[in-house]
Amino acid sequence: MTVRPILHVGNPRLREVSRPLARAELASAEMQTLIDDLIDTMRAANGAGIAAPQVGELVRIATIEVNENPRYPYKPRIPLTVVVNPVVEFLDDEMVDVNEGCLSVPNMRGNVLRHVNIRVTYLDRHGNEHVETKRGLTAGTFQHELDHLDGLLFLDRVHDTRTLTTWEQFERYHRAAFVERITAFVERVGS
Ligand code: ZN
Repeated sequence: MTVRPILHVGNPRLREVSRPLARAELASAEMQTLIDDLIDTMRAANGAGIAAPQVGELVRIATIEVNENPRYPYKPRIPLTVVVNPVVEFLDDEMVDVNEGCLSVPNMRGNVLRHVNIRVTYLDRHGNEHVETKRGLTAGTFQHELDHLDGLLFLDRVHDTRTLTTWEQFERYHRAAFVERITAFVERVGS
C-alpha cells in the first residue's frame, strides 16, 4: 500500500491538461502501480475520488469510490471504478447545485452546478471500453474528477463565491440546509 502526497491548489501541475494513455502503456507496471496508489491514496484521505494529476502524474486516469463516507454521508454509494481516457457527454440541460470539496483544496467547500444526466465513455484498468450513463450526485462526482484531467478545480466552477466556506463553518451554518435539499434530490433522481 502506497499513499502518495496530494498536491494542493497553487501547485502548477494541477492546472495542466493530462495526456491520454495508449492501451500498451496502460498495461505497463508503472501505470498499474499508479492506479493501485491512487486507490490507496483516495481511501486513506476518505475521498470520493482522486485523479492522477492530484499526485503529480499528468495522465488521464481517475479512481472513484463511495462507501460509507464521513466526508460525504449523503452521497449514494459508487463501487470502485477506475476510469482511463474518459469522455463525458451531457444528455440534457438538467443541472443540480452541489456543495463540493476537494482533496487538493484543503478545508474549503463551495457550490457548483453539475449536469444531472451524463454518458461517460472510458477504459477500465485492463483496457476494456465502457459506455455508461450516470445520474445525480454520482454524475457530479464523475464530472469533478474528470475536470482534474483538464486542469480544472471545483473552485473554477463556483458560481457564487459567497458559498465558499471552511468545513467548520459549513458544519455550523450550512450543512443542515444542504443535506435536507440534497437528500430530497437524491430521493427524487436516485443514485
Ligand atoms: Zn478534486
